[in-house]
Amino acid sequence: MTSTRSGVEIEVALDTALAEVPAIGRRIAELDAAEEFPAPFVERLDAFGLPAYYVPTGWGGAVEDHELLLRLWRTVARRDLSAVVAHGKTYLGAASVWIAGDAEQAATTAARILDGGRIAWALSEPDHGADLLNGESTATAYRDGYRLDGVKWPVNNATRARYLTVLARTGKAGTGRGQSLFLVDKAALAPGTWRTLPKEPTHGIRGVDISGIAFQDAQLPANALLGAEGTGAETVLRALQLTRTLCSALSLGSGEHALRLAAAFAAERIIQRRPLLGRAYPRGTVGRCAALLAAAEATALVSARSIHTLTGEMSVISAVVKALAPTLVDAMLGELAELLGARSFLTDVYAHGAFQKIGRDHQIVAVFDGSTPVNRSALVQQFPRLVKEFAAGTVDGDGLAKAVSTGGPPGPLDRGALALLSRRGCSLVQSLPALAASIAAGAAPDGLAAHATALAVTTGKVHELMAGVAPAARPAMAAYELAAAYELCYAGAACLHTWSAERHRDEPLWDNGLWVRAALRALRARLAATLRLPAPGPEEGDDRIDDALAAHVAEAARTGAPVTPFGTPMLPADRS
Ligand SMILES: Cc1cc2nc3c(=O)[nH]c(=O)nc-3n(C[C@H](O)[C@H](O)[C@H](O)COP(=O)(O)OP(=O)(O)OC[C@H]3O[C@@H](n4cnc5c(N)ncnc54)[C@H](O)[C@@H]3O)c2cc1C
Repeated sequence: MTSTRSGVEIEVALDTALAEVPAIGRRIAELDAAEEFPAPFVERLDAFGLPAYYVPTGWGGAVEDHELLLRLWRTVARRDLSAVVAHGKTYLGAASVWIAGDAEQAATTAARILDGGRIAWALSEPDHGADLLNGESTATAYRDGYRLDGVKWPVNNATRARYLTVLARTGKAGTGRGQSLFLVDKAALAPGTWRTLPKEPTHGIRGVDISGIAFQDAQLPANALLGAEGTGAETVLRALQLTRTLCSALSLGSGEHALRLAAAFAAERIIQRRPLLGRAYPRGTVGRCAALLAAAEATALVSARSIHTLTGEMSVISAVVKALAPTLVDAMLGELAELLGARSFLTDVYAHGAFQKIGRDHQIVAVFDGSTPVNRSALVQQFPRLVKEFAAGTVDGDGLAKAVSTGGPPGPLDRGALALLSRRGCSLVQSLPALAASIAAGAAPDGLAAHATALAVTTGKVHELMAGVAPAARPAMAAYELAAAYELCYAGAACLHTWSAERHRDEPLWDNGLWVRAALRALRARLAATLRLPAPGPEEGDDRIDDALAAHVAEAARTGAPVTPFGTPMLPADRS
């Protein structure tokens, strides 16, 4: 199934709205250099109606479709990561309300968002980042509500947002039921009971309001409590399954922006009277990076759709995609920086120094909302179940089919089905052996059957190794490496499934399975390196992949055509 017209139209309309900002490239660079909030872009996003996509349709939102929201965030991120980080925070701040709030809290929150209100998500504390169970802020029963004390820092939009969802201790420290979530309206607090902390200077996303908030004897009404007392950590872990998945949009946008910049440079740059891209090495770089971005895209799209269709598996899926997408894009950025040479480093030349800004901005994606090691650690805890269900070949066929059929509406979302552990494991990975066999049995493009079969074999090997991991609160280093390997197996399965669902598309990236062969080749190479296995040899047709991909991407960078298999056009960037 191809993308619905309305979905693509919405993406194109958003891109047009952003491209209409006068001298957009220069403006983004100026705001960043001045460490100024990206207000012109955030205002555009408000005017476009993006907040309505943060609200479930049942509460008056636009369309509840996380694939579409992922795509819209990517559309913004490929122009300016700061803008989407600043704007998207409200989605994160509100995510817990739709999960744990009662009807009145949800209706109030929806009205606030649709009215332009901003919501921050205040979990972190100076002495406790990922270690949420040990947070020291307290909410003590007092009069008819709670008294809130403590410091939340660093928090995106802590100063600019009027509303915050705050995690605070109501029970025993360090226990699963010791924390509760509260919806706080700063305007309703008594003066002198709270103060915001100064904006922190940051390496990237420089203009974003990364600050904090301190509460002292702040009186909250009883109805500020979201869900039952003691359920805060659980609610946050469920909400993170949505937010971590959507964070991959930040990586997709950054990767696309960087790829377009580098490919255009390589095509235009004349060295010894020939374009740089006329050489095999730059073509190899562009081809490999385009392949990694395609893999990240397929992974992110399937994962975002899985929010709706494989909801009970999201504890696995969100950990995989949150770790994988920034890792692949960071790898791309390293390679593309080398290709751009001096222009990857200079802050005021070549598209207003956009590349170095992408590098600085994207660095945070692997850190916030759960770092890569934190997500890998969470995945390791589920190894026994993943091993068991892989051996059993457990697959939710209907949910999987809907997850991999990108573009159409993914169907309703039952947030009540979000679970802390996946009882079914991961349908996508568990379906890989059968999928590889069916590709091998049919008429597949050059080399694809061999790639798919080899990936399935390695995936089996990864599960054998996972079976040997002893359960532990603090897993061994080898377990983290296996988690990284599992992510690559997941990505390969996402590529094969999304390609299979639409294999007859008549577009250059789909010709003879170009993108999926490139992605499988790149993922298998990384998988072998992660497992310390010999690098896989080339399959049939692999030697022609880079030339074809590099030529396509360079042309797309010039014309604004999509650079990824499920991408959308981009109005020409302002490189004046
Ligand atoms: C720009 C920015 C925006 C932010 N926005 C928000 C926000 O809006 N709301 C909010 O609440 N917080 C926010 N944060 C905080 C962010 O989420 C935390 O930085 C994050 O939770 C990690 O905390 P930490 O690095 O301070 O420390 P720690 O959690 O103590 O981590 C220190 C190191 O230990 C590693 N580590 C932690 N746990 C494990 C584990 N189980 N296994 C292996 N390694 C582990 C981490 O990966 C890291 O390398 C933001 C931070 C930044 C920089």
